[in-house]
Amino acid sequence: MRGYASPERRAEAIASVVVAILLLVAAESKESYGFYVVLRLVCTAGAVYWALRAYQEGLWGWIWAFATVALLMNPFIPIRMQRKDWQSIDLWMGVLLLSWSGYWLLRRVPQAPAERADGTDAPGELADSKAADHQIELVDVKAISVYCRHLAKEWWKGEQRQVAICDTCNSPVLCDDGFLNDTYLQCDSCFTPSSAPSEALQELREDPDYFGETTLADARRFVGMRPRH
Ligand SMILES: [Zn+2]
Repeated sequence: MRGYASPERRAEAIASVVVAILLLVAAESKESYGFYVVLRLVCTAGAVYWALRAYQEGLWGWIWAFATVALLMNPFIPIRMQRKDWQSIDLWMGVLLLSWSGYWLLRRVPQAPAERADGTDAPGELADSKAADHQIELVDVKAISVYCRHLAKEWWKGEQRQVAICDTCNSPVLCDDGFLNDTYLQCDSCFTPSSAPSEALQELREDPDYFGETTLADARRFVGMRPRH
């Protein structure tokens, strides 16, 4: 049981392999001017597309790689180089794209957010894998955001005052607002799961305890326990 790539992912990977082959052809032989013009356009559009897809999944290394390709190949402000330099660049981009296509196909497909937010069981292929526990997705960031907002509201119930101070930036936080994480109260813009979810996702993937040792597990449990609507 493995997370097989969806038809969409397969189509994306196949299109990329085709472009990778064209790049390798360009690196190895001398083609017509028109061939290179079309290849440039295809590579720029493809790199922008992949940078956006990588962004959706929080793959920062790949976002930079594709952004660099898009800049290098863009037909609007063309970069002038010797033919043999282009050939080695084409070769490296072809290899990069082949590796990426393989990675994209074999990469575990993230779950649909609704499934886990509802607290229902994960699909079998993920549930029987130990790695599933460590898989962190945007839905977890959302869960932490919901959970820490809840903690803040609970904390406000015991407060007489109407305004508190953000522990990070010292700006005022109004009653019932903000996010409480451990003993820290943060305003909406300082609490990254709310203000910058993809940034928070990256931090959480690097260190699942980033927002506190038990915060992720507590937040998942909290969101899972809420009644379905
Ligand atoms: Zn703040």
